[in-house]
This record gives sequence, structure tokens and C-alpha cells, in this order.
Amino acid sequence: MNFAKNITICEVGPRDGLQNEKELLSIEQKIELVKGVLAAGVKSIEIGAFVHPKAIPAMADTEKVMQAIGKREGVEFRALITNMKGVERAIVAGVDKVKLTVSASRSHNLSNFNRTPEESVENFAECAKVATEAGLEVSGAISTTFGCPFEGRIPLEQIAKLIESFSEIGIQEISLSDTTGVANPKQVFERCSALKKQFPTVTFHLHFHNTRGMALANIIAGMEAGITHFDGSFAGLGGCPYAPGASGNIATEDIVHMLEDMEIKTGIDLNKLLDVARRVREFIGHDTDSAILRAGKSSELIGHKPKGQTISS
Ligand code: ZN
Repeated sequence: MNFAKNITICEVGPRDGLQNEKELLSIEQKIELVKGVLAAGVKSIEIGAFVHPKAIPAMADTEKVMQAIGKREGVEFRALITNMKGVERAIVAGVDKVKLTVSASRSHNLSNFNRTPEESVENFAECAKVATEAGLEVSGAISTTFGCPFEGRIPLEQIAKLIESFSEIGIQEISLSDTTGVANPKQVFERCSALKKQFPTVTFHLHFHNTRGMALANIIAGMEAGITHFDGSFAGLGGCPYAPGASGNIATEDIVHMLEDMEIKTGIDLNKLLDVARRVREFIGHDTDSAILRAGKSSELIGHKPKGQTISS
């Protein structure tokens, strides 16, 4: 295995995690979680979304959360947007980066944004221009990159076409999202290797949901293909309101724990991150999909005496 020595993790819990919770958190609770993530050393945070508050009520107060936190030296706050209204709000709120989202799947994009993927990207040119002029960085995201509940596997050419369109409007950072948790490691390795070769100047980020337990394996496959940026969500919160049965994002603490065990640096303090994950559970009031919250760190096993005579395999 030949992996990069440093991996960058973006905490998307404040957006992808909280947007799917029935229970709306207060602004104070959101601020506490973001501050906790900052204290753990996370340098990239998806703090919210500037989308219609009726569509996603949990994101309606993103401005207030961002303004309470304020810009931080060396930290990148990004927000998800889908149109010009989002750009305008992002500028006022003072985020560092916007993420323009399109779905590779025609049906998913129609159900999510009420327009075809091509129409979405057409709108992005003006959004990217205005955001850039205001000093914001602009990135793109392609959801359902690895498959869609309505259309199944999306042909790689379709993904490549969208990346090309993003490149044409000057966007060189693209997040490939497995929105519905259908990616497998072989597919991730093959797609990422091919896309990296086809678009050598693009920085790819990978965004996995752990719906079918394959997210960590998919991260390893992405690392094998040379990807160094991954998204995670505190406590494994998240899902997709438009994808039936889609459960949480891969937990940030599970990624950091795995990488730390493999002596790969993330710059994140795992204990502090676990404190945040526990608070998340307290706030939302239900169990989530986080292996390390459930089982503890593997390093904690060292020094424990075996109990009784039972040996299991
Ligand atoms: Zn997601």
C-alpha cells in the first residue's frame, strides 16, 4: 500500500448531518458543535447550506451560525449552494467557499433541484463568476457519482461531462459524492483512477455514506487511487431525504481513527472529536452509526486483561 502521508478531512456534519434530522437544533447548539470541531483541529468545515429554508428548514440559520463563529485563520468554511440566491447569501454570511451541487443522475437532479443536470451547470457559470469576484473560492460537487436509486449506475462518461462543464467555468475542485451509499471499493478505485488521469489539474474530494458498510473500504480505495481529501460527519449523522433508506455519512471519528492507526496524519485530535460526537448524540437524542463511539479506540484495548476463559474467533 502506497498512501499519502497526510489526508485532509472536511467535517460535513453541520450541513449533511443536521439537515436530515427531524429535531431542529438551536443556533447555540450548532455553534457549540462547530466550535468543538474547530478545537479538535479540523481545518475544513461545511458549516451549512444556503438553500430555500422551506426545502431544508434545518439550514435556515446558516448565516447566523457563520456570523457567530466568524472567519478563522487557516480554516476553510464552506457552504452548499444551488443557485444565485445561495451565492448572495454566502457572500453576506462570510463563508470562504461555496460548493455548487449537481446530481449526475437526471431523475435525482430533477427530484432534488427541479431541473436537469445540464440546466444546473448552465446556471453555475454566473454563480461562479459572482462568487469569485466577491473573493470566495468555488468548488463543485457531483452527487450520485457512484449510482442512483432511480437510474442505477451512472456511466462514467456522464460524470466526466459534468467535470468538464465545471472546468469550463473555472472550477477545479470537485467532490464526488456517493449520496445513496452504493459505491464499492473496486468501482471507487476504477472511477477515481480514470478521472484523475483524464483531469490531472482537478482536485477531487470523496464523500461517502456508510449505508451499506462500505465507506471506509471506499476511502482506502480512493487513497489507492491517490485521493487525499475526504468528507466525514460527526457521530455518523446524515442521510438523504430524497434517497429512500439512505443512512448516515461515514463518521469523521471512524475515518480519523483508521488513519491514525495506519500512521497517516490528519491533524485532528481524535479524543476531542469524540467529545463532539457524544454531544451530537445528546443533542439529537438518538443512536447513530459510529463504530468508535460504540466500541472505543483500538488502542484502548491494550493493557486490558482477558475476562474468563472464553476465546472467540
Ligand atoms: Zn452526503
